[in-house]
Amino acid sequence: MTASAPAPAPAPSPRRWRPRRVYVTRSAAELPHGRRILARLEAAGVGDVELLRSDRLPPLRGEDERSTYALAKQTLAVVVAPPSKRRPQPIPPSADWRVDLAEGCPAHCQYCYLAGSLGGPPITRVYANLEEVLDGVAPHVGTGTVTSASQDRRDEGTTFETSCYTDPLAIEHVTGSLSQAISYVGTRDWGGPVQMRFTTKFDDVEPLMALPHHGRTRVRLSVNASGVQRFEGGTARMPQRVAALRALALAGYPVGLTIAPIMPVEGWREQYGALLDDVAAATADVAGLDLTAELITHRFTPRSKEVLQGWYPRTALEMDEDARRQKRGKFGAVKHVYPAPVMRELRDWFEAALAERLPAARYLYWT
Ligand code: SF4
Repeated sequence: MTASAPAPAPAPSPRRWRPRRVYVTRSAAELPHGRRILARLEAAGVGDVELLRSDRLPPLRGEDERSTYALAKQTLAVVVAPPSKRRPQPIPPSADWRVDLAEGCPAHCQYCYLAGSLGGPPITRVYANLEEVLDGVAPHVGTGTVTSASQDRRDEGTTFETSCYTDPLAIEHVTGSLSQAISYVGTRDWGGPVQMRFTTKFDDVEPLMALPHHGRTRVRLSVNASGVQRFEGGTARMPQRVAALRALALAGYPVGLTIAPIMPVEGWREQYGALLDDVAAATADVAGLDLTAELITHRFTPRSKEVLQGWYPRTALEMDEDARRQKRGKFGAVKHVYPAPVMRELRDWFEAALAERLPAARYLYWT
């Protein structure tokens, strides 16, 4: 059972993303966090910043889907999140609630899980009304159906996931939103246990090191087999992510692995085994290590396949409906997942390998 994948090309270290153009809506520019972002952009030497006279972003269209995608990935928009985006939403199986600091991401993953769920070109939009977004947390403390309702995960408290629609660390140097959110969650009296959580494929964790997180933010590094990294353009390489995980754990953060998307590429057992061994070695001497593992297999929808093929017309990523099993979501939406025997083989292997190679990790879920 293997899906063939050529050997991975060496990936360059990602530089900090520098948007080519920035749009700031009129309302966003009037807010304190909008002004802080403007100051960060200036400090980062980002020159092409346009203050809009309204709250509408100008249309972004290239000659074809691929060039529109390329333009959008170079663009940052500073906007105000509308009320519908400010209300925390349930987000099983990861967390009780989803809280969005931004939408979109400058990286180029050919399987990007945002494809098909973003409306229009994938511009990175960061929310200037951060204080309002964070105000949405308090009313939900003590509620939720995942960690709050689970015997096994209750110790995590009420959980708030901030990476559903973005990689918040990828844009932290130009937004500062993540640091502010970590400090906010870490220093307030919530009247009960609360944990913010996010997952990232980036390693620029230095700005997070000295924050007053008080153990209330779990940072998960999204990691994968070396044969899958070739699909993750513009992200940090795997050894850098593992080093970031170690640095965060040493700084007292609860940490985690998001092993996703799991793919049975050629040599997957050896590659995933080496990954788990690397994490074990990197965390072996961390006192008080709090490490979790979330395991997510690759899937696609008809819409995400269509969007991804427009963004990456030459992708070698396997998205063959005939090689997959259909799974229907709550509202009848189709997902293409691996067939049951493949899933069983992957799951059995991962559960055994985690227990054997990385017993320090608490396994949260498989999907
Ligand atoms: Fe998509 Fe995450 Fe990759 Fe960004 S890092 S392109 S959000 S999969």
